[in-house]
Amino acid sequence: MNITIAGAGAMGSRFGLMLHEAGNQVVFVDGWKDHVDAINKNGLQVNHDGVEKVVKIPAYLQDQVPSDFKSDLIILFTKSLGLEGMLHSLKDTIDKDTRVLCLLNGFGHDEKIKKYVPEENIYIGNTMWTSDLEGPGKVKLMGWGTVNFKNWVPGHEESAHEIAKVLSDAGLGAEYTENILEVMYKKICLNATLNCMCALLECNAADFGDTSTAHTILTDIITEFAAVAKAEGVNLDAQEAIHFIETKAYNRETLGLHYPSMHQDLIQNNRLTEIDSINGAIAKKGRKYGIPTPYSNLVTNLIHAKEELRKAK
Ligand code: NAD
Repeated sequence: MNITIAGAGAMGSRFGLMLHEAGNQVVFVDGWKDHVDAINKNGLQVNHDGVEKVVKIPAYLQDQVPSDFKSDLIILFTKSLGLEGMLHSLKDTIDKDTRVLCLLNGFGHDEKIKKYVPEENIYIGNTMWTSDLEGPGKVKLMGWGTVNFKNWVPGHEESAHEIAKVLSDAGLGAEYTENILEVMYKKICLNATLNCMCALLECNAADFGDTSTAHTILTDIITEFAAVAKAEGVNLDAQEAIHFIETKAYNRETLGLHYPSMHQDLIQNNRLTEIDSINGAIAKKGRKYGIPTPYSNLVTNLIHAKEELRKAK
């Protein structure tokens, strides 16, 4: 399959590499010039579960994509703030046969994608894979993950299954997932607690978990999310989501020493965060359904204040 990875950062590089190694024709499109130049000059340098390798995959700078360039599938892996710019850059390459899969964390991406892609070609979900971008052209891939997604409008299930097979054949463990909203709500609980708190408190997940207030913070935020989910007909079990975080994410032997992506963006790299697609998106949904979301509002505003103080870009 001809596959464009739109946003070839940590996650895009992982998916691009694994799909390339499975025999697909993969092309990277990215907005970071140093990264694109490094990939084209030296290849993508990968540490994959401790194995070092260099892989040649063509990369285009996003404002230099040839207009006759076509792909069967575009996998979107920008950060949420880069999504619309990427779609705009690719708009002339998207036709009625181009399927677009969005695996960004958070909610609200469909609103942007719908401006550029016919709804019947949109597939949305998320992934439990992780990756680290160590510098231009250099990624570190560890562990194991899954992908869950479905077609955005009914009637395209067969096509979703076909895409899932291509991803699974590449070892990405993809599943067509009927209850995708439930899966996305569960994932956003993790992003909306650990990501924000580790960025605000400038700590890793384990150190946050050791604080005496961690459980109360998780409970306040996730209970609010469960109320919003309910308004959308989604059963989000708040206790189960809290238990998952407390038993899996704080463990110093596994994930606990990890600095979540919002910490990496804001504290380590002074980049703007995805907060508006995470806690901010729940606050927006709350306003739509008339459900108060004071914790989501507060956390969103605190992160924006911190972005301003740090002059993040
Ligand atoms: P990323 O920050 O690694 O890459 C996103 C974009 O930012 C890419 O275009 C990349 O080239 C650019 N970029 C990265 N560092 C830059 C720098 N220093 N200067 C300029 N540009 C830079 O993002 P990601 O981690 O691949 O995440 C993509 C999406 O996947 C997000 O929605 C994220 O929340 C989600 N996600 C990430 C992970 C993870 O482990 N990284 C796991 C699951 C989901």
